Amino acid sequence: MRLSNSQYDALMREYDLRRQDNADLLSRRQDEVYEAVPELYRIDEEISSAAMETFRARVSGQDEGTLHDRVEALREKKQQLMTDAGFPEDYLMPVYDCPDCRDTGYIDGEKCHCLLQAEMDILYGASHLGDILREESFSRFVLDYYPRDKVDSSGATARDSAEDALKRAREFASGDTEGANMLIYGDPGSGKTFLSHCIAGEFLSRTRPVVYVTAYTLTDIFAKRAFEKTPESRREYDDLYSCDLLIIDDLGTEFSNSFTQPSFFQCINERILRKRSTVISTNLSLGQIKETYTERVFSRLVEHYDIVHLFGEDIRVRKKITKHS
Ligand SMILES: [Zn+2]
Repeated sequence: MRLSNSQYDALMREYDLRRQDNADLLSRRQDEVYEAVPELYRIDEEISSAAMETFRARVSGQDEGTLHDRVEALREKKQQLMTDAGFPEDYLMPVYDCPDCRDTGYIDGEKCHCLLQAEMDILYGASHLGDILREESFSRFVLDYYPRDKVDSSGATARDSAEDALKRAREFASGDTEGANMLIYGDPGSGKTFLSHCIAGEFLSRTRPVVYVTAYTLTDIFAKRAFEKTPESRREYDDLYSCDLLIIDDLGTEFSNSFTQPSFFQCINERILRKRSTVISTNLSLGQIKETYTERVFSRLVEHYDIVHLFGEDIRVRKKITKHS
């Protein structure tokens, strides 16, 4: 169970409503059939009194054979009358959105496929990533976009750096490293967001909740939590702490001030303490991060984050050129 309690409760209420709607639908159909074929009302009464007699006979140990036949005959007659009036054969059968679990969400105490799917939909929705993740995955990460003739200050080529980043991101996403964190830094268009989406997709495919925010949205969530205090703002804020993976995209674009800095520190520090993973991507260099954020933020990143560097040509530009050539 990976949903929050309130998410799960809301989902169960949906199942309740579904069962209620379907029961209402059946009841309307019943009225409709009685109105069209009034004789069916009498037959149904006979069926229920015969069923009652059968029950009494069974309890008192008497033979119920002929009663059984009578009920069968009445049922057949009912079916015939309905067919003659043009109703489908299953018109008065119970209606279910999911016949497998009869809209309870469970089969023998195990979650039904429909419930698992509904949970996934909620998790994908809550991740704020929606359909993006269905298209972006490690298998689509193109190493050829990273040139072998471009090197960074450490002497690594763009290609080697990207290969290394991909390998470490895959390990990270495999889920074997509990509470691991990753800082992906590099030029605009170097594939940082793509890589973080790949990681998010892996987490979500194992129904582990992911929250994706831009640094700008993150400060917005902090502010709403502090000043608005609505249930919605509280939930958004709590999700930052409770999700298995938090992705903060584009660090450095938010307004950095005396209010956001402590909130940001608290967020990443608390997640480290709770052993919950965080991925941060940024266009800033490590030197710029150090200048922009407080010493304690910087030291948490250096000590607790796996740091990978992506650079090369702007992939977004390169993709366009490839497309048009
Ligand atoms: Zn089901």
